[in-house]
Amino acid sequence: MSGRGENIMVVCRCRPFNEREKANGHTKICEIDSRNGVISLKNPKQDSDVKTFTFDAAFDEGCLQTEVYNSTARVIVDAALGGFNGTVFVYGQTGTGKTFSMQGVPNVPQLRGIIPTTFHHIFDYISQTSQKKFLVRVSFLEIYNEEIKDLLIKANKNPKGGLDLKENPETGVYVKNLSAFVVKSVEEMEHLMDVGNKNRSVGATLMNENSSRSHSIFTITIESSEPGPDGQDRYVSGKLNLVDLAGSERQSKTGASGDRLKEATKINLSLSALGNCISALVDGKSSHIPYRDSKLTRLLQDSLGGNAKTLMIATLSPASYNFDETLSTLRYANRAK
Ligand code: ADP
Ligand code: MG
Repeated sequence: MSGRGENIMVVCRCRPFNEREKANGHTKICEIDSRNGVISLKNPKQDSDVKTFTFDAAFDEGCLQTEVYNSTARVIVDAALGGFNGTVFVYGQTGTGKTFSMQGVPNVPQLRGIIPTTFHHIFDYISQTSQKKFLVRVSFLEIYNEEIKDLLIKANKNPKGGLDLKENPETGVYVKNLSAFVVKSVEEMEHLMDVGNKNRSVGATLMNENSSRSHSIFTITIESSEPGPDGQDRYVSGKLNLVDLAGSERQSKTGASGDRLKEATKINLSLSALGNCISALVDGKSSHIPYRDSKLTRLLQDSLGGNAKTLMIATLSPASYNFDETLSTLRYANRAK
């Protein structure tokens, strides 16, 4: 973790061209200098217009999932094992690799994303740490249209209008009645991830049929205890939020209308609220962090800022036709530095 906000790390990741883009001969407008964390973006309408952005790291299309994990999320998971809260976000246009980065490709271990790699990391650590006792719990929810839905129960068991956010003076903001499952192995966690994924809301837009219009938050709470020098057990608790945000694209491009457009307005609201909170935290001068502006930021309040560690991965397309969206993603990420 580096930079002004010691606890906030921002990186970008550019995906490879897909087959369709190759077939259509699209040109590449992103140049990544991974050694220095610099990305240059060329305006396809004006060759001399090249904008550069510097992040804590910049990953090109050839980078491996394990490289991304080891140089970004790993420290946050280590901190959570030691009792600190942390949040990992993926932000970007639909189709740029948010879910690929977060979850990876099912049943392909080399393409395992951050969430399942975290499972392995946690249980490897637990199996090597005999002096401590652990309790690991998992919840999985989505925020869709500013409504919170439990992804680990049957869709029809979720109340109309969503679950309520409540505030407890001692434990902070929590989702009332959200299920939490105790897990004892990687397999149990993977199973819950699959169950939750099947329950996610998906709406087809022109850009990507499986595009998700919701934010999903996979939360892992790790409690541990070990005997202190006085013979009394010492407890610590860390919470990890692994957040796959909804697509950041502006809605004109997706041809949204009616319900879709109403949804879009709410999606943009929580994404802009998140951007405002992170930039206020990074700025360090503002005493007011506008957590209350959206469900997403209220929910993540205790895992953003303070001692909590935050990682944002901005995902990008390399292709010229996505220039506007790529520029807007880079600008958003740049505010978070
Ligand atoms: P998003 O969740 O942002 O909408 P996806 O993760 O679904 O995007 O990615 C869109 C497509 O691109 C998927 O087929 C995915 O496997 C592929 N993809 C994304 N990023 C990469 C990458 N870094 N390397 C290889 N394939 C990728
Ligand atoms: Mg996705």
